[in-house]
Amino acid sequence: MTGQLWLVSTPIGNLGDLPPRAVTTLRACALICCEDTRHSGKLLSHAGVAGVRLAIANEHTEDARAAEVLELLASGHDVAVLTDAGTPGISDPGARLVRAAIAAGHRVSAVPGPAALVMGLVLSGFETTRFVFEGFLPRSGKDRKERMADIASERRTIVLYEAPHRVQRTVADLLAACGGDRQIALARELTKLHEETWRGTLADAAVHVAELAPRGEYVLVVEGAADVAVAATDDDITDALRTALAGGADRRAAIATVIAATGANKRRVYDLALTIPR
Ligand code: SAM
Repeated sequence: MTGQLWLVSTPIGNLGDLPPRAVTTLRACALICCEDTRHSGKLLSHAGVAGVRLAIANEHTEDARAAEVLELLASGHDVAVLTDAGTPGISDPGARLVRAAIAAGHRVSAVPGPAALVMGLVLSGFETTRFVFEGFLPRSGKDRKERMADIASERRTIVLYEAPHRVQRTVADLLAACGGDRQIALARELTKLHEETWRGTLADAAVHVAELAPRGEYVLVVEGAADVAVAATDDDITDALRTALAGGADRRAAIATVIAATGANKRRVYDLALTIPR
């Protein structure tokens, strides 16, 4: 009988949210992989889990840790993976150990619990039946622009993670890509004392975050692009492109904004954009 790899979710801010089954599962493991032994050590001592060895498996060491984990699993021991907060493998280490365990034929399971993306999504008030998780966007350059263009035309609700000092910049870029009328929810400090979810248009969100100097952790939830009932004419599209360009968007961003706003075919909007002198 081989051992089992456990992904154990931990609180995203409120210690009361540690799943009860996490404690029994962690106590039964031979090794607990974590991002930071001091951080997880505090959680474990709060939960009364003692005597289980901790080892670091962070973004730099996860692959190197796999050999030891596979050896323990092969010899019948259970191993847990937990991260500083939330669900392992969600914008956090964990997925590579899961793949290694699966490839070696071991059982993998999870103790489910907090994940900021799920809480932010359900608190947004937006459509939850279909959504996409974008995690952290690339910080700059072509990749970031392409992801912004994808978000502008995405019909499903979009969930993003962002560091507090980058929230203003990301809201500004979302505004340029999606236009001022798109709705956004800014879910902040979830499960903590100062939890709040701000909801409004992207135009208002840009003002809100400029006044606020964002602090704490944020989930950004953007409403999907609207279905358009009335087909836009070529004049409508050209006018919308001119407005976006006059607002400072480059050609690519303007095209994405107009596709998102009108639902028009990408090729058609692109061709019409070429008729506008630079
Ligand atoms: N694995 C975690 C999970 O399951 O949510 C995510 C870890 S990721 C490194 C950290 C990001 O998650 C933060 O930058 C923030 O976007 C989001 N986050 C984590 N805790 C949060 C909280 N209490 N409130 C709002 N966002 C949070």
